[in-house]
Amino acid sequence: MKRILVTGGAGFIGSHLCERLLARGHEVLCVDNYFTGRRQNIAPLLSNPRFEAMRHDITFPLYVEVDAIFNLACPASPVHYQFDPVQTTKTSVMGAINMLGLAKRLKIPAVQASTSEVYGDPQEHPQRESYWGNVNPIGPRACYDEGKRCAETLFFDYRRQHGMDAKVVRIFNTYGPRMLENDGRVISNFIVQALRGEPITVFGDGSQTRSFCYVDDLVEGLIRALGAPPDVSGPINLGNPGEFSIKELAEKVIALTGAPSAIDYRPLPQDDPKRRRPDIALAQELLGWSPTIPLDKGLKPTIDYFRKNANGAGRIVAQ
Ligand code: NAD
Ligand code: UDP
Repeated sequence: MKRILVTGGAGFIGSHLCERLLARGHEVLCVDNYFTGRRQNIAPLLSNPRFEAMRHDITFPLYVEVDAIFNLACPASPVHYQFDPVQTTKTSVMGAINMLGLAKRLKIPAVQASTSEVYGDPQEHPQRESYWGNVNPIGPRACYDEGKRCAETLFFDYRRQHGMDAKVVRIFNTYGPRMLENDGRVISNFIVQALRGEPITVFGDGSQTRSFCYVDDLVEGLIRALGAPPDVSGPINLGNPGEFSIKELAEKVIALTGAPSAIDYRPLPQDDPKRRRPDIALAQELLGWSPTIPLDKGLKPTIDYFRKNANGAGRIVAQ
């Protein structure tokens, strides 16, 4: 049994990770400032004596005693990370410095939740870890993309300079229960719109693609990354290589919800990547990991989750 720090533990992926770590017998210290996380996400865990929740902003130093760190704290949806872009960069960069400082003092491993956004609007397809990316450093997504890129730099410099076991995984679009209904991400948006019988807002002509990983698969990949030997540094892509156009996704959501929704085409946001699909050969080789839940299968429990949180009028109510 280990005592594991999960920053961003009250968020979407973080809360699933905390739950899985507890189920495996670990102690979990969840640190979150509740910017996009919710206490409701971790409420069922609070009665577990091996779980502890702490309100803290990781842009400030943290002094705790733990055996390993997952650094997930950072708003992840464009709507939320663009709300206060300076704070987003600070969270990624200063958060990484603080978590790496903690890991250095304690001589413990740390895993950084990086993102496929480090590839920007990729000119290589599918994206392999060796690709350096195509990121606009001054655009509206830069606070997130460049913040995460700098966090990767820090993880590798701490590794080289201090001989630490610092690892980086690059997470591709992940979905599942506990996504926020108002965070603007495509899967939550489409499901909520369908359940409300509203038009589905497809940005651009819907030909841009994404690859969607169900949260349970992703959490398994994160845990395997922490368990990998110290010489495994990453970056390692974690995602589901199944690739779908956004229009196909809209049609799937309409079919699975049985909604009467039409598609409402809207302008494509600036710097929106046109294609995204992970090459996961490295995760398969180094972690023995590959996703097991295809999109149709994962959409069902996700739709059920949002359906349960709708009141009689079909409106989604806050969690
Ligand atoms: P989320 O917004 O649900 O979770 C992020 C959590 O971090 C929230 O609980 C939030 O309150 C917390 N947080 C934000 N700033 C903080 C700060 N300064 N101090 C402490 N806590 C802070 O998002 P998520 O989808 O669960 O993403 C988790 C991590 O995975 C993020 O680092 C994100 O960049 C990465 N990631 C997610 C995806 C995805 O598709 N969900 C894809 C790529 C990378
Ligand atoms: N998108 C869309 N309609 C929406 C929300 C998003 O068509 O209501 C598109 C968006 O333009 C992008 C894709 O869906 O091409 C994925 O968007 P998301 O914000 O979920 O993630 P990211 O762009 O970070 O991959």
